Amino acid sequence: MIRRILLTLLLLAPLALVGGYFAGFVRLPPEWDPRAPLDFRAEPNLMTRWKLARMRVQPESCFAAFEASGLSPQRLPDRPSDTGCPLVDTMRLEGESAVLSPARPMVTCPVAAAWLMFERHALQPAAEEHFNSRVSRVQHLGTYNCRNVYHREQGRRSQHATANAIDIAGFTLANGRDINLVRDWDSTGAPGAFLRDVRDGACRYFSVVLGPDYNAAHANHFHMDKGLWSRCS
Ligand SMILES: [Zn+2]
Repeated sequence: MIRRILLTLLLLAPLALVGGYFAGFVRLPPEWDPRAPLDFRAEPNLMTRWKLARMRVQPESCFAAFEASGLSPQRLPDRPSDTGCPLVDTMRLEGESAVLSPARPMVTCPVAAAWLMFERHALQPAAEEHFNSRVSRVQHLGTYNCRNVYHREQGRRSQHATANAIDIAGFTLANGRDINLVRDWDSTGAPGAFLRDVRDGACRYFSVVLGPDYNAAHANHFHMDKGLWSRCS
């Protein structure tokens, strides 16, 4: 009898918690609350991926994340397109502590959110681990380009066609050292290890990350996007 009561309580407890959460009786810390906006400064946890994924279907939760993180990004007006390159929910991307070069490219809000998570929680820790320095500048090859995948005449539009991607060529450290994919990807020392950690770290926040291991077209850059596909190589 007691066992049966205990078992019933055990089964009901999670239901009561979920019910209490939706009724507003149970409060979760913001970093664990699926309805709270993502704070880029908080340590990533199991909820982070869900919150980043939600931004694709609820763009306002993306802009709310910037507000919750104490940032006020420059949002850009939507621009419809009859050539398959509409701009929706875009903004100017600014790094947290590393500047982008060229400065302030246009990206979708989910790309900007993934970038801020990547920079703080993957890129800078990797630079500190491998070089005891921080990244002060990121060289990129562009974000928006109304074109098909691989510039082909036919086929589907690239994620770049909607500013939902960024291509990264290299990094400058605060100590003046330059690391770039063309020269350093095959390095067996710290630069090669750093670039692999950067690739793996980006995969935690972006949907697709492609680099030199993927194909020759990516020998000189990491492609990072927030499209529907998922791939890390
Ligand atoms: Zn790309």
